[in-house]
Formats: sequence, C-alpha cells, structure tokens
Amino acid sequence: MDRQQEFVLRTIEERDIRYVRLWFADVLGSLKSVAVAPAELESAFAEGIGFDGSAIEGLARRSESDMLARPDPSTFQVLPWRGEDGQAGVARMFCDILTPDGEPALADSRNVLKRTLSRAAESGFTFYTHPEIEFYLFRGTPADSVGAEGGAVHAPVPVDTMGYFDHVPGGTGQDFRRAAIAMLEAMGISVEFSHHEGGPGQNEIDLRYADALTTADNVMTFRTVVKEVALSEGVYASFMPKPLADHPGSGMHTHLSLFEGDRNAFHEPGAQYELSATARHFIAGLLRHAPETCLITSQFVNSYKRLWGGSEAPSDIAWGHNNRSGLVRVPRYKPGKAQSSRVEHRGIDTAANPYLAFAVLLAAGLKGVAEEYPLAEGAEEDVALLTDAERRAMGIGQLPASLDHAIHLTEGSELVAETLGESMFEHVLRNKRAEWVDYRAQVTPFELRRFLPWL
Ligand code: GLN
Ligand code: MG
Ligand code: MG
Ligand code: MG
Repeated sequence: MDRQQEFVLRTIEERDIRYVRLWFADVLGSLKSVAVAPAELESAFAEGIGFDGSAIEGLARRSESDMLARPDPSTFQVLPWRGEDGQAGVARMFCDILTPDGEPALADSRNVLKRTLSRAAESGFTFYTHPEIEFYLFRGTPADSVGAEGGAVHAPVPVDTMGYFDHVPGGTGQDFRRAAIAMLEAMGISVEFSHHEGGPGQNEIDLRYADALTTADNVMTFRTVVKEVALSEGVYASFMPKPLADHPGSGMHTHLSLFEGDRNAFHEPGAQYELSATARHFIAGLLRHAPETCLITSQFVNSYKRLWGGSEAPSDIAWGHNNRSGLVRVPRYKPGKAQSSRVEHRGIDTAANPYLAFAVLLAAGLKGVAEEYPLAEGAEEDVALLTDAERRAMGIGQLPASLDHAIHLTEGSELVAETLGESMFEHVLRNKRAEWVDYRAQVTPFELRRFLPWL
C-alpha cells in the first residue's frame, strides 16, 4: 500500500467513517456511486470492486460486462452533509474503471481526460481549467413541472425574480450560495466568486483554477453538493442548459491555460494582449475544431436551445479580447500578470461531461499548437449582430444549430474519435442519435399553437 492509501485508511479510523462511496461518471457525465464498508478498501485499492458495467450508460456491453472500480486515494474526502447528529460518517473517492484484466476500461471518461493530459505532458504542458458554473434554483420538485407520463408540462418556477448581480434581501439564493460554498470549501474545493446570474433564480459559482483532472472531479462534486443543499432548503437545482425559453441558459464558461512548469505558456510580455504564440495557436485550434467538438461540449437536444437563444451564449465561432459575443474570449489582461493569461471557452454548458469536454478542448488546442494554426484578427464588434454576408466576408463560421447537425459534424471527426477512443466515440454517437430520434418524434406545444388554428 502506498502512503496516500494508508492516509485514507487512517483517516477512516480516526473519523469513524462507516461507509465509503466510490464515485465515477458514466459516458454522459452522470454521477454513479457504490458504497463499500471500510474493511473492503484494501482490496478495492489493490484490485478494484466488481460491478455490472452493462447496467451503466456507455460502460460495457452485456457480453463483457464485468468491470472494476478502483478508488483514487488522492480524491478522498469526507462528505460534510453526512455524519452529523450521531449519524455514521461517510466519505467518497473518485474511481478509475478497469476491465477484469486490470486494463483501463475503454468507456471510462476520467481515463479519456487522463490520457489527453499525458499527451499534453509529453509536450511539457500542464493544463489548467477554471469553470464558472451557472444553474437555476426552482421551487418545489421537478415532478411539479413534469408530472406524470403523458400529462401536462409546466415551466418550472424560479425561486426569485431578480437578475444579474442583484442582491436579494433575505433571498433564497444568498442563503443557498452561502451554504453551498461552505460545503464545497469543507470538501477542499475553493470558490472564487459567486453571484446571482441574469435569469430569475439563476446563480453562478466559480471554482478556483486547478489542473483539469481536479477541476473535472470538482465539477462532478459541485453538481451533487448543489443538488443536496437545494434539497435541504426545500428547493431544487437544475443544470439543464436552457430550462426557460425566455431567460438565459446555464453555461459553464471555462478558462483554459497551459503551463510549462511554473511558467504560464500563454503569457508573453510585449505581445498583443500579452498572449504568446502558443496561446494564439491554441485559440486557433479551439475555433477550427469547434464544429466537431460541439457535440461533446453541448451534448443534449436542449443545449442547442441555449447556444441559439442569445443572452450571451455564443453561436459564432469567433474570438475577441474582452468580447463576450463569440465562442472564445480573451479576458481583459492585467499587464505583467503572467499567471492570469488565459482564454475563456463560452460554448461549453453546465450539463457537459466535464472529463470529455475538457479532453476535447485540450486536444483541439494542442493540435493548433502542434501544427501552428494561424489565428485571424480578433473580433471587436458584437459578432451576434453580424449579417450572414458580413460573417462570410470575415470568415466567421457558426456552431451547429441542433443536436442532429452536431452529430453529423462529429461523425467525421478524427480528432474526437482519437481523443475518446473508437469504442467510446461510436457509443456517444449511438446515444446521441437515439436522443435525436426520440426528440424528432415529438409534436410540441409550439407546433400545436402555430399550426392547429391555421392548417
Ligand atoms: N448565461 C450565459 C450563457 O449561457 C452567460 C452569461 C454570463 O455569464 N455573462 O453562457
Ligand atoms: Mg462569470
Ligand atoms: Mg455567468
Ligand atoms: Mg464568463
């Protein structure tokens, strides 16, 4: 056993932890959890805990369904919402998924990110990300809106009617953010900013930057913590990309940078916006591969309602300094502040699988760096207001307009196939085609309202 594993076992004894939850993500980024007794941990570290992979989206075929979850001791955390009032303490660890032969499972998205990070490491780079996570708080429970199968669907009711940066006196949002942040900090996840967002009941919490594997794990933890805290306050939290047609969607803008050791490889004193050639090629990679990676960063039918619904969600494949209208923004730089040179990807939404999304963004950026993609001039105007002719003249493309469109653009993508691995790539495409077929079969309230009185 190594030192980290010993530390975990010692902490479990000292803190009287009775259950350890082993966490991992399925291919869509839903959190899966199996609780084990502390006595099982030694063998879990050595060989992993067996489970039926075929029961979990994207993990395995029925004919080869045995899988192992092996906990990563560096992710050990005691869960702060358990263990009070004499309850037994509970902790969690993220897991790697292995085949019975001990090989990384092809469908383990955490491993996809790890593989991509080691490719970056071969070129000397560490990849840092800093996610800004938006979500809505609604009254009651989802069942209040969705009802029974076949019944009427009502729009969810936000907990307040406030907007961007509003201070809500005595508001649910404020109490909620304070409780959620306390819990995140108790789990070792540092929060930098939090505020009310543009939509009613919409909030944003920004996590401090860290290496991409840590932040992807943190995003998984974040969604669970936020849902738990919401429940404890009698409301519910939703990470649906566009829950309300008339209000902004929820994005997960993510700030990206590459470091070489302690040095920010995106920073160059004296260059335009103090952006190095590496940063410029990286941005060019993000832009060139945006059409084919969009299926991974915006993975649901509903994601495209956000991207095309305005409210500062991007549909244009453009970049700009201090410009929030396109896919990539270079934040206003602070001269000489080398550590903070970075680029913000504004397309990715809050329902993405963070492991896969960070992996494809890194792969796209690295390709731009390796092949020295040229970067066009940044846009200075609001690109969302351009006409199609102006867009064409400026060489600005657009993101796919629907899930169906995104699937077609991803089908031919070598970059995404290589990054996810052939079998996960095929699985994602199958899963997404099935989602589109289900969606296409719907007759929506829009169609009834528009066509029934007329046709
Ligand atoms: N909610 C917007 C989005 O979906 C972002 C708004 C903002 O952070 N300024 O991307
Ligand atoms: Mg923000
Ligand atoms: Mg925001
Ligand atoms: Mg932002």
